[in-house]
Amino acid sequence: MSTSLRYELRCRECQTTWGNQPISFCQKCFAPLEVAYDWARISKEISKDEIARRPTNLWRYKEFLPLPEQHDASLPVGFTPLVKAKGLGETLRSKSVYLKNDAVCFPTLSFKDRVVAVALAQARNFGFDVVSCSSTGNLANAVAAQAAHLGLRACVFIPSDLEAAKVLNTQVYGAQIVRIDGNYDHVNRLCSQIADKHRWGFVNVNLRPYYAEGSKTVGYEIAEQLGWRLPDNVVVPMAGGSLIGKIYKAFKELTDLGLVEAKNVKFFGAQATGCSPISTAVKAGQSEITPQTVRLRKTVLAKTDQFPPESNLRILFSCEHATKRLPLLSKPNPSGKPSPLATGLCVPSGANLTTVPA
Ligand SMILES: [Zn+2]
Repeated sequence: MSTSLRYELRCRECQTTWGNQPISFCQKCFAPLEVAYDWARISKEISKDEIARRPTNLWRYKEFLPLPEQHDASLPVGFTPLVKAKGLGETLRSKSVYLKNDAVCFPTLSFKDRVVAVALAQARNFGFDVVSCSSTGNLANAVAAQAAHLGLRACVFIPSDLEAAKVLNTQVYGAQIVRIDGNYDHVNRLCSQIADKHRWGFVNVNLRPYYAEGSKTVGYEIAEQLGWRLPDNVVVPMAGGSLIGKIYKAFKELTDLGLVEAKNVKFFGAQATGCSPISTAVKAGQSEITPQTVRLRKTVLAKTDQFPPESNLRILFSCEHATKRLPLLSKPNPSGKPSPLATGLCVPSGANLTTVPA
């Protein structure tokens, strides 16, 4: 890493470093880029006491995020409540079960506010006037709201058959909405082509490495809210598959920095029955995820084809122990004894968007 940089982009495969620029793939081998940090430097700059003195939002972990120097954090995003779920704990026969309630995340009531906050910090840093995304709802709202706050123009691309209610808030915030005749995968590909041609900041395309790092703040908050301890188990909604790996990464970073005691946290990935492409692939031992096109009747997830192109193997790596263990969480411990899984934790990711039953 260049000595002047706190962080920079690095290829996940060939390890080539690319400084900081709005790209998401290695120009040599086309593997995805991720953010690499100078942890030796960061470890000297941060402490639990210092974090505790800061406002309760995700910017309190700024050293762990790819933010521009002198970043002006004006929106209090994140630091959502960790709520003890007594009834659920009794059902699962577990001493302590908590819900990390990102359904009250500011400003648009979804986990996407976190990733967009980090991506737009870099969008301004790179001088983009227009910010954009491909979306099926929550992400469009988060981009539209935060762009409006920052004085940026927002243009979001959605599949043409997306329910109008899902982008109502997006319209309220003044974003331009472009409906594309195709599924989410088609919309995503189109956005990649536009990002190649125009100077637009697409949060989940050319800003994706920075955007993805925003997810780690869920993990930092969980650890801090538990008194700088890691839980025994974490249940994470899979959706596109990135959050589970980022919470793992957050726990590892805190452990490596000595801010929490090391613990072998068990991770569980949750997917709704009938819309479970990742769970299905893991249970079948497949190395590729097959998109599902089921229209759900009873659950809130309808995003069946929205995996970023680089994600398949990484997702399976992230959740190799995940979905096989899920039955443990769906019925009480048959022994009748308190579960040895002392501190469990679930992470609902959003509140506002549901698919209208068919
Ligand atoms: Zn490479």
